[in-house]
Amino acid sequence: LNSMEKPHIAVIPSAGFTHLVPILEFSRRLFHLHPEFHITCFIPSVGAPPASSKAYLQTLPPTITSIFLTPITIEDHVADPAILALQIELSVSLSLPSIKQELKSLCSRAKVVALIVDVFANGALDFAKELNLLSYIYLPQSAMLLSLYFFSTKLDEILSSESRDPQEAIVIPGCVPILSKDLPLPFQNLSSLGYKGFLKRSKRFHVPDGVFMNTFLELEPGAIRAVQEMVKGKPRVYPVGPIIQRGSIGHENGVECLTWLDKQEPKSVLYVSFGSGGTISQDQLNELAFGLELSGQKFLWVVRAPSNLASAAYFGAESKDPLEFLPQGFLERTKKQGLVVPSWAPQIQVLGHSATGGFLSHCGWNSVLECVVQGVPVIAWPLFAEQSLNAAFLTDDLKVALRPTFSQSGLAEREEIAKVVRGLMDDKEGIEIRKRMELLKIAAANAIKEDGSSTKTLSEVATSLRCF
Ligand code: UDP
Repeated sequence: LNSMEKPHIAVIPSAGFTHLVPILEFSRRLFHLHPEFHITCFIPSVGAPPASSKAYLQTLPPTITSIFLTPITIEDHVADPAILALQIELSVSLSLPSIKQELKSLCSRAKVVALIVDVFANGALDFAKELNLLSYIYLPQSAMLLSLYFFSTKLDEILSSESRDPQEAIVIPGCVPILSKDLPLPFQNLSSLGYKGFLKRSKRFHVPDGVFMNTFLELEPGAIRAVQEMVKGKPRVYPVGPIIQRGSIGHENGVECLTWLDKQEPKSVLYVSFGSGGTISQDQLNELAFGLELSGQKFLWVVRAPSNLASAAYFGAESKDPLEFLPQGFLERTKKQGLVVPSWAPQIQVLGHSATGGFLSHCGWNSVLECVVQGVPVIAWPLFAEQSLNAAFLTDDLKVALRPTFSQSGLAEREEIAKVVRGLMDDKEGIEIRKRMELLKIAAANAIKEDGSSTKTLSEVATSLRCF
């Protein structure tokens, strides 16, 4: 078959590198297992497409075609984590006319069977009906988050009730009980735009034929079952993970990190990173520095310039040298104990390195899955989005993480940090945690084997696409 005769799948990510990679890694996996499909990806972008996105697209097989849509501009872009999701959705909404045009044109020249959209590109779902396509949302996150989306109307009533005790635990169906402070950021202010946006988005999950989530049966059995019960067959829900990026060491820090790790003892190093854009305040940066030093444990720390906005680095490049913000003399005093790199490390390779024994993480879902896949236990330090949900899941449900206590002032103080670092790297407790993580690592590998749960799920999807 030439490519136009093959059954086509149209894929719509959201704007920005971090929203492009997960859905394309999923596409790559689908294509790898079922090469009879051709995938065409229409990419919205705010301003010129980032170089990182372009470089990444070069790594895809030729049967995944990608087309950048006409870039849109957004005035008054503010870096506010509370409305990050809304801004991403807005950028997709502004691209809807060109998405529609491209989809129609593709349908006229190829046999398109399905439309798969990123969760923030849910605005494009309506075109599937018009064009008679099967439609799916790709949620690059957990079943716990999907359960929360489906539960959110009911939860809204519970949270709005005046008689509610704010200390009372919240039970998202199928999940470990959590405190309301661990609900995603928009829930911390029920009259905020972010919260209204969350509720609105939750309704969109009823529109498509199916929802894919980046998790696997053995990781979240309770939440997956609960979601299946809540939706009663429409949409179908498909756990297809763990899907993680293949590592790349293209970055300048890559070689330095890995050669340094080569010189360390097995499982002796704590890797410290807050994801692709997370930042902490100057005061917190100081406490973290002193805490790491005090712990006496080896560390590899990805430092970013401090900011009081936790998601500051998601927008715009960092202009300052992050190392300038470290306490005076810190680099000199810790030069035998740790390696500090500015802004970026090759995380996949770092987590896969035999010297890495723990990860102090902001608990973005990709980082969570990468830890699980590599069997690296966690110190959970969530910053924004649904990271605290993930932190609660790791700590209280899976019991593969420790979580520092934050003081009245909102800081994790140096003694507390030193205590959890030692607890994870050097204590009996840490050994038990590590054992549980090792079991998850095996389960994760099994889920994507030929007869694994997630592989079977994708085959089921491929069959419905073929028969459509
Ligand atoms: N990442 C990396 N090096 C870094 C920071 C992040 O390679 O220094 C990668 C990491 O491996 C993961 C992604 O960027 O795949 C971050 O995704 P996650 O969901 O954990 O957090 P987010 O960046 O979305 O907050």
